[in-house]
Amino acid sequence: MKPTNSVLSSYGTTIFEVMSRLAAEHDAVNLGQGFPEGESPEDVLQAAADALVTGWNQYPPMMGVPELRQAVAAHNKRFYGLDVNWQTQVMVTSGATEALAATLLGLVEPGDEVVLVEPLYDCYLPMVERGAGVPKFVRLEPPSWELSEKALRDAFSERTKLLLLNTPMNPTGKVFTRSELELIANVAREHDAYVVCDEAYEHLVFDDGVHAPLMGFPGMAERTVRIGSAGKTFSLTGWKVGYITAPPELLAPIAKCHQFLVFTTPPNLQQGVAYGLGKDDEYFGKLAGDLAAKRDRFGAGLTALGFDVLPCEGTYFLSASAHGAGLEGTDVEICQRLVAEARVAAVPLSAFYEGEGPTEFIRFSFCKPNATLDEALRRLGEYLGAKP
Ligand code: PMP
Ligand code: GLN
Repeated sequence: MKPTNSVLSSYGTTIFEVMSRLAAEHDAVNLGQGFPEGESPEDVLQAAADALVTGWNQYPPMMGVPELRQAVAAHNKRFYGLDVNWQTQVMVTSGATEALAATLLGLVEPGDEVVLVEPLYDCYLPMVERGAGVPKFVRLEPPSWELSEKALRDAFSERTKLLLLNTPMNPTGKVFTRSELELIANVAREHDAYVVCDEAYEHLVFDDGVHAPLMGFPGMAERTVRIGSAGKTFSLTGWKVGYITAPPELLAPIAKCHQFLVFTTPPNLQQGVAYGLGKDDEYFGKLAGDLAAKRDRFGAGLTALGFDVLPCEGTYFLSASAHGAGLEGTDVEICQRLVAEARVAAVPLSAFYEGEGPTEFIRFSFCKPNATLDEALRRLGEYLGAKP
């Protein structure tokens, strides 16, 4: 048989799927793959259900239903003061994942350099490589995950086409600071590069933190692609509805890619999200507030068990070193033992690195009912207590 595509065949199954399968096999509490449970807003579900039963169930427009594109533009203005023309600057996608694929395939020419920040979300690198882009890595170091100006500048060259930024950041829970964002904006402008911002967790920022889209920084509107995910904003990850806001010159090639990739996204789900983006401030505040409380509850429980928990400013994820809790070995080995023996699934942080990364941290998703979090802590406690 002739070989199939070598970029894709060099990858295994994603760590999220692997851990979810193992969790099911061992009847484990699944704190691996990041999906919320028990949080989905009823009225958003109802809006989509109504649209399913009474509405249009054929192909919607390729760019997305007007109601959702208008809602995305209005959301940009309401939360960030961004002025966006919904007809030329907004497109609906099948999740943030497809938004990323359409953007990378639409903008990157073979041989272009793409700057990626490690630890990095799993689909970034295969997408860049499948588009024949050349990855250049900037690594953030635990526990602070600060961006070093030198590392950033070293990753850029005259061949840099774009930088891919994820803030709030999976898996670190980091929210990039204003000065880090200013630095990124300056370096991107100096190199005439684009920045693709994966802002899937834009509404999951805790405490007094603020999410500031890079698109709003001086001189960035014309070079920034901003990606959002209804899965995260409405705790409906299975819907796979995402949206892109970009200048018309960048959205046009991205839309070309989208039309040949999926062409469109289910119209009833789009209507549900259009309704949801108009929800009042209380909804968005409560979403973040509830998650912050879960972070605190679960983080305190892990700390009491001896885990060294890293700070978490946003997202669904807490990372912790398991060595303090007396668990030996690499993060991969620890996660394998925990799912099979403690029946709690987590994800090893080293899965978010291209080369060698730190091997002591594991990532827990805390976007679960309190009873689930407490049961996970109980099982971990029992397991650790039972160790010789
Ligand atoms: N980007 C990041 C950083 C994510 O964590 C995820 C998934 N949770 C996505 C993109 C994909 O989002 P979606 O499910 O909307 O495709
Ligand atoms: N983004 C989710 C996570 O980080 C998983 C999404 C997926 O399974 N592709 O856990």
